[in-house]
Amino acid sequence: MDKLSIAIVGGGIGGLTAALGLARAGFRPVVYEQAPALGEVGAGLSVTPNAVKGLAFLGLDDALSKMASEPLQQIVRHHQTNQVMVHIDRKPCRTQYGAAYLQIHRADMHQILVKAFTEMVPDGIRLDAAVASMTTGESGCTLTMSNGTQTTADLVIGADGLRSNVRQWCFGGDAVRYTGHVAYRGLIPRSDLGDLEMAEGSCAWAGPGRVFLRYPLRGGALINCVMLGRSDHWAEESWSAQADIAELKGALAGWPDEVQRLIDAINKDRCFKWGLFDRAPLSSITCPRVALLGDAAHPMLPFFAQGAASAIEDGVVLSRCMAASRNLTEALERYQHARLERVTLMQAQSSEGGERLQASNTENLRKEPLKNEDTLGIFHYDPASVPI
Ligand SMILES: Cc1cc2nc3c(=O)[nH]c(=O)nc-3n(C[C@H](O)[C@H](O)[C@H](O)COP(=O)(O)OP(=O)(O)OC[C@H]3O[C@@H](n4cnc5c(N)ncnc54)[C@H](O)[C@@H]3O)c2cc1C
Repeated sequence: MDKLSIAIVGGGIGGLTAALGLARAGFRPVVYEQAPALGEVGAGLSVTPNAVKGLAFLGLDDALSKMASEPLQQIVRHHQTNQVMVHIDRKPCRTQYGAAYLQIHRADMHQILVKAFTEMVPDGIRLDAAVASMTTGESGCTLTMSNGTQTTADLVIGADGLRSNVRQWCFGGDAVRYTGHVAYRGLIPRSDLGDLEMAEGSCAWAGPGRVFLRYPLRGGALINCVMLGRSDHWAEESWSAQADIAELKGALAGWPDEVQRLIDAINKDRCFKWGLFDRAPLSSITCPRVALLGDAAHPMLPFFAQGAASAIEDGVVLSRCMAASRNLTEALERYQHARLERVTLMQAQSSEGGERLQASNTENLRKEPLKNEDTLGIFHYDPASVPI
């Protein structure tokens, strides 16, 4: 098996996790990434205990503990009264779940994976390598790049994100769906916030159809701010469309002082917005010689912070399946069996979580029994030991 050639389409967090897992299992995968240079867009990323266990299995605990912050509490407040409606103590997280809950700059997470993988496979990432088409046959897969060059592989891993071409080539074209949610984001240097006092850890304010979230990154030097809100339509394709701060301010008018101070401190040229899309759940995430992972397989809304986390789980489980199997067919069967039910559940629960957080009666968050990532048991999962 370790002589099999493996092509990974997409060098995001999911593709690189799979690449590193496979390299550690003795394979030499090649990652084809369309971008001409490496570097993640985006800002903060919560890496929940289920994903941290997978990253620790890949030997990344030291790098993570140097670069990530560990929120010791998570709070949800009322958008008008500022009252605490949900308080989650994260201090017992390691004992409860066997790993910490971490928050990290996306670029740092990406860089940790790139470094670890290229130390093992120095020529393992091909940049400016957009895969334009793919054929599969009994003897292997052929990938054609947008510059016309071709390469072959025994296994193709489709880690090419929400608008995955690999998914399209294998399963046909179900449409990407606008979910009715948009996200705004801004990163604020802590030094720009003057004497603003902020409770430690992460804090969200919830209101009808809107949630504003802030948490520290890079040891508190940066404050990551995200607003998730409903919007009837969305035209932009980009992850990096510039947002109008006045629009954000208008959407959160009357929200507590801390929210206003944070919005006022966002650099108007560095405030971005993008539409949130998903796709219908698949009934299979593999086909002969192809495995899908991450957003290519199961894009989900960010309300449970499980998009990248589930991509990390996929990468770890897939590499374990490859290491444990006698042939490719067996490995793909194991992967499908181990992952499909969980990722389908995560997709559905992430949407439901958004409905609860943005409900028209915000008070329900306090009155109704808490239903979140913790209570749903999502963090207990360990991709390093789950049966395959
Ligand atoms: C507002 C917001 C907040 C979020 N917060 C969190 C969070 O806190 N925690 C969390 O776990 N998740 C979070 N997510 C979700 C997370 O960002 C994604 O689920 C995750 O990045 C998916 O990783 P991926 O590797 O599957 O795909 P991507 O990151 O999309 O990577 C796909 C890669 O494939 C490349 N590619 C595409 N097509 C081709 C091609 N034809 N040829 C070659 N390369 C190609 C792309 O350039 C890209 O590099 C959030 C998402 C949003 C929108």
